[in-house]
Amino acid sequence: MDKTPQSVIREEIRALSAYHVPDSRGMVKLDAMENPYALPPGLRDEIGELAAAAALNRYPDPVAAPLKARLREVMHVPDGMDVLLGNGSDELIQTVALAVNRPGAALMSVEPSFAMFKMIATFTGLRYLGVALASGFKLDAARMCAEIAAQQPALIFIAYPNNPTGNLFDADAMHAVIEASNGLVVVDEAYHAFAQKSFLPELDRYPNLLVMRTLSKLGLAGIRLGMLIGRPQWLTELNKLRLPYNVNVVTQKLATHVLGRPDVLQAQAAAIVDERARVSAALSSLAGVLAFPSAANFILFRVPYADAVFAGLKSRGVLIKNLNGSHPTLTDCLRVTIGTPEENARFLSSLQESLRQAA
Ligand code: PMP
Repeated sequence: MDKTPQSVIREEIRALSAYHVPDSRGMVKLDAMENPYALPPGLRDEIGELAAAAALNRYPDPVAAPLKARLREVMHVPDGMDVLLGNGSDELIQTVALAVNRPGAALMSVEPSFAMFKMIATFTGLRYLGVALASGFKLDAARMCAEIAAQQPALIFIAYPNNPTGNLFDADAMHAVIEASNGLVVVDEAYHAFAQKSFLPELDRYPNLLVMRTLSKLGLAGIRLGMLIGRPQWLTELNKLRLPYNVNVVTQKLATHVLGRPDVLQAQAAAIVDERARVSAALSSLAGVLAFPSAANFILFRVPYADAVFAGLKSRGVLIKNLNGSHPTLTDCLRVTIGTPEENARFLSSLQESLRQAA
């Protein structure tokens, strides 16, 4: 017997590459849409005390009622809707995918979009359908609706705003997609804090809609907390797939406490939005650079010789994301996360030097 991974592990898993996280030690880290700001000292001290007092020897509260109550209040979850928590929203994408993977079932998204939609479809055994965006990275409602009618996907994920393009899709086009679908539609609002537009008020209207959020872009990426919001009928089913203690003790305590000071996180998000306007204007003023409009905490931009410019930035200690080659519409595209004013200034000056060097 051939007792090797080749004979045991599924072919589609062996064909995948693990989600790549580059080494960022010592770099100005503008590659992963993190919030660049630390929490204020008083709040950090309180967190220290909470972590010290946490019962690390016990399993976490499986229901996380205090955290859910705080989330409902801060995120204005509509009455009658439930919340399901995940170890980051990545885990929730997987939970929903596992719940619908009947033989032949499909997961649909748009392209280009968040890479995990396709990866999770692959490892949960769903057929993946990526529908091309129209020019200007717009949601092509006619094309989506035609594909939905032909393929009847069990599940559709749409990031709103989209990653890596940064734009918010037209709301009418989103409504058309939700209405055309006989399956579940999840609107992924990971970047909501920077866009302020939401489908939460639409949950009442559409029986097949769920909204997903995360604390990752708001400043708490390190404690991993994502959430699905929707009708109890859906979340009761999905909850059966959730592993019993998926949100750990420290995350529950810290998230509940920090969300008790929504003003702090909101002020940081507002500072990021201000900086976004400044960085976008600065990018647009550079010869040969095209910056795409963003409603998120990052900006997609096109440069001549993206690989060389990316390498030039890296050699100057600035890490962003190179999207060249990841999709035909992203040729020569790079994506920069908005950092502190100092980090952004360092990025912009390094970019100018890298552009001169690459030319
Ligand atoms: N959705 C989108 C659109 C994202 O860009 C990301 C992170 N890059 C996630 C979900 C996952 O976020 P997390 O697992 O940290 O909640």
